[in-house]
Amino acid sequence: MNLRNIAIIAHVDHGKTTLIDRLLSQSGSFRENQKVAERAMDSNDLERERGITILAKVTSLNWKDTRINIVDTPGHADFGGEVERILNMVDGAVLLVDAAEGPMPQTKFVLQKALKIGLRPIVCINKIDRPDERHNEVVNEVFDLFANLDANEEQLDFPIIYGSAKQGWMADTPTGSQENMAPLFDLIVKHFQSPVVEEGPFRMLVTTIEANPFLGRVLTGRVRSGTIKANQSVKALSRDGSIAEQGRISKVLAFRGLERVPVDEAEAGDIIAISGLTTATVADTICDPTVTEPIYAQPIDPPTLTMTFRINDGPLAGKEGDKVQSRVIRDRLLREAEGNVALKVTPSVNETDAFEVAGRGELQLGILIETMRREGFELTVGRPRVVFKTDEETGEKLEPVEEVIVDVDEEYTGVVVQKLSERRAEMRDMRPSGVGRQRIVFHAPTRGLIGYQSELLSDTRGTAIMNRLFHAYAPYFGEIPGRHTGALLSNSDGDAVAYAIFNLQDRGPMFIEHGTKVYAGMIIGEHTRGNDLELNVIKGKKLTNVRASGKDEAVVLTPPIRMSLEKALAYVGEDELVEVTPKSIRLRKAILDPNERKKVSRQKEAASEA
Ligand code: GDP
Repeated sequence: MNLRNIAIIAHVDHGKTTLIDRLLSQSGSFRENQKVAERAMDSNDLERERGITILAKVTSLNWKDTRINIVDTPGHADFGGEVERILNMVDGAVLLVDAAEGPMPQTKFVLQKALKIGLRPIVCINKIDRPDERHNEVVNEVFDLFANLDANEEQLDFPIIYGSAKQGWMADTPTGSQENMAPLFDLIVKHFQSPVVEEGPFRMLVTTIEANPFLGRVLTGRVRSGTIKANQSVKALSRDGSIAEQGRISKVLAFRGLERVPVDEAEAGDIIAISGLTTATVADTICDPTVTEPIYAQPIDPPTLTMTFRINDGPLAGKEGDKVQSRVIRDRLLREAEGNVALKVTPSVNETDAFEVAGRGELQLGILIETMRREGFELTVGRPRVVFKTDEETGEKLEPVEEVIVDVDEEYTGVVVQKLSERRAEMRDMRPSGVGRQRIVFHAPTRGLIGYQSELLSDTRGTAIMNRLFHAYAPYFGEIPGRHTGALLSNSDGDAVAYAIFNLQDRGPMFIEHGTKVYAGMIIGEHTRGNDLELNVIKGKKLTNVRASGKDEAVVLTPPIRMSLEKALAYVGEDELVEVTPKSIRLRKAILDPNERKKVSRQKEAASEA
């Protein structure tokens, strides 16, 4: 059987799900009652909300006598190393672009990687049925984009196909026959090569891992050489050639339509999944026991950020979520780490009922917290900290540095450069990137980027786009100024009352409103001065004063500052925590009791003076 392994690169909403749905239904590999969106390339709610794709999934379909494996690509640079490994499984890429919107900066990162490894993309101009479509301009924009990304002559000479995924047709010209998807299928088969296979016994580079409740550890990759059957003995070689594991394959799974099905045997070139091994992981080579050389693999990006996940031990614990015990949290975190190479979970050395979770960035850890929250967990989480290292030769302190690419309207370049410089970023490049926009490249310490995303969006009225990629460990960039303000704290437990809040508003902006449940040690607002201040917000004078009926009695509150998870994590200081439940995000002092807190802070001061 002929085979094509391809990736689809698309900005969210440009029609990838619709396109794959039509390809499946017209190829006949699709059962009527299956809906693509259900399992889907973007099935995860969170992925959809945040406009990113996190996991690579494979869809496989038959066209005439060719099988086409379609791999989805992660859309965000927190997962940089992953992108490269995934693209190394394929021989071609389809860049899907909305005929009205044109190419978007978010897809640049993946596209750049694809061009760099030599793929020659097909450009698919979708949504030609839109009344505001402007395909000529969009094609020019794609050309400029390719040129900007240093595409070679062959890559610049990309084939273009036009159509409407929604209406179920693709054609060689914008006004071509609107019949079906056959022209795209044919182009894929004609333009892309069948996978390069090598001579020799079974070898496969592991690209993704997944913890499956029935199969255990499932490893996905492309078979580089040889064949593989269930029950076959194999070994796993690490990147350095050492043996990571020896064992037996229990199942060989191939992709069919949207499903993964057991097969007797898989051949070189195919993208498959195997189960049976227990410790082998991404970037390992699974191979016949006679093989001694691993397949070259990109190193796995190191974890650069760590957070302490603790149980919720506040007075409101267990009121909004049903998963609160330390054991349940631990099991959930370990399960996550099992399926995610970029995550490391260890019990905390300083505290009981707490775990250190190290990952590849705020986005990844934020998504994990958000997912757990939706599953019913309650947690408290500390401020993210970067993972420092020491240079073995010089003894110098090293910290993770990222390449940060910001695409922004010209009028906002000033504020972006200023804010990032304050965060110790160094500008490396600035050049125009399309109409009225600039692309600025920085090297920035990860430490300085914590919480910057939301600031960037508000500084640029939501128009800037930031991509981040781990660059290197480099010598410490120096102190970065943190929050200057203290916290307004509740001094008692109860429901906040409008009248009380009203009278305290001049102390600083509030995070709570009338009716918010508060407790002693909870942060209810930001003190305009540097110290913390305890306040009573549950005592309303007389009830008549609170009723907002009569004109002169009406209490008009300034709307509270809403803390998103991301904002909250970046906001809290060393001695503070974010309390996360399915319904609320609260900020609190790590030590709730005021006397205990004072004692500990005095001890700390004494220690730092000594
Ligand atoms: P994805 O986020 O890239 O997977 O995009 P979807 O396939 O979910 O499509 C996003 C939106 O665009 C949906 O509302 C689709 O119905 C719509 N859409 C997809 N293809 C077309 C098309 O060819 N023409 C028009 N007008 N809309 C389309």
